[in-house]
Amino acid sequence: MSLQTFNIAALAGDGIGPEVMSEAIKVLRAVEGRFPVRFNITEAPVGWAGIDAAGKALPESTLALCKKSDAILFGSVGLPNRDPGVPKDERPERAALMRLRREFELFANLRPVVLWKELAHACPLVKERHGNGIDILVVRELTGGLYFGKPKTTENLGNSQSRAIDTMVYTTSEIERIAHVAFRAAEGRGKSGGRPRPKVTSIDKANVLENGVLWREVVAKTGEQYPNVDLDHMLVDNAAMQLMLKPSQFDVLLCENLFGDIISDEAAALAGSLGLVPSASLGHEKGGRIFGLFEPAGGTAPDIASKDLANPIAQILSAALMLQYSFKLGDACNAIVAAVGKAIASGNRTGDILDPANLAAKKVGTQMMGDEIAAALRNGH
Ligand code: NAD
Repeated sequence: MSLQTFNIAALAGDGIGPEVMSEAIKVLRAVEGRFPVRFNITEAPVGWAGIDAAGKALPESTLALCKKSDAILFGSVGLPNRDPGVPKDERPERAALMRLRREFELFANLRPVVLWKELAHACPLVKERHGNGIDILVVRELTGGLYFGKPKTTENLGNSQSRAIDTMVYTTSEIERIAHVAFRAAEGRGKSGGRPRPKVTSIDKANVLENGVLWREVVAKTGEQYPNVDLDHMLVDNAAMQLMLKPSQFDVLLCENLFGDIISDEAAALAGSLGLVPSASLGHEKGGRIFGLFEPAGGTAPDIASKDLANPIAQILSAALMLQYSFKLGDACNAIVAAVGKAIASGNRTGDILDPANLAAKKVGTQMMGDEIAAALRNGH
């Protein structure tokens, strides 16, 4: 089989970003040893690393690198003790992450949330509530709704009064394109979680919001093109509750931007640690390829940075999503997921997922966890 080559922009960022990125790169090198692929990985500064190196959270050279790459593997950006020192628009999350989402029209955010059976102790729910396991894909619209709608302003009304305005706005085509992503992803997951048929649950607030009514109509119409996928609709307040009561009822959750921001973090908590949850932010398909930015669900975790304490699994699984969605290397993606499973099954635990009651578990640091996963991959697990 001929060798395929992919160009990756690796933007590690701040806090734990560089530590967990090193482990993801280690695992990608192990993938090269097993599959006929080569990754040209170029690292570049972003976030505070970008400000310190070139005066901007997203230096021009970093943006230029992203533009000529096939995908962006992103760490995380922002430091709470430094962020307030610069104007809001220059802070790393806005100036780098939001800018990259806009620049590449990354309109679809996918966050798979899986509770590994060996890590059930880390789930905040009692066992009876997650007994059948948790395997949910949250699909969030990322470039519309309240976060980007205009007008978006704060007016001074005098008399010490201000008025803040955000605008929730969606068009039919914006809803259609994210609905297609959710239905296709559901088809791709097949019978995950032992379900007879894949299912999309669309979240809205159709009882109160005009946006919710349109969202529901357009998703229902789009769903007619996917006869093999079941569709139901749920109000967002009920969905937030159902996630805590019976998460196993969900397969794919489809949400607009604000609801998805909240629901995806709530769902991430079910996995037991932010250090386990990856994400993919995808743009349009061009010539059979989808450009994307792949990053862990968590932030820069300054409380544990530079101490070899961070869990690298979220970053490693983000690299796996990059192989699946941007490079169409499904087998290599599955091999990484299996290697993570092997490392966990062998008892390796970073501090965030350690169960003191499990005497067979072995406490490992960031680098050791990366080593174990890379070794499992090389050994064909
Ligand atoms: P955080 O996600 O960084 O940390 C929350 C908690 O989760 C902390 O206790 C942390 O130790 C833990 N945690 C996160 N990732 C972990 C990992 N891989 N292994 C083990 N434990 C992990 O959230 P925060 O403290 O609210 O934010 C810190 C900074 O990160 C802020 O500046 C924030 O703006 C930024 N942030 C960036 C992104 C991003 O770049 N996408 C996302 C969220 C937050």
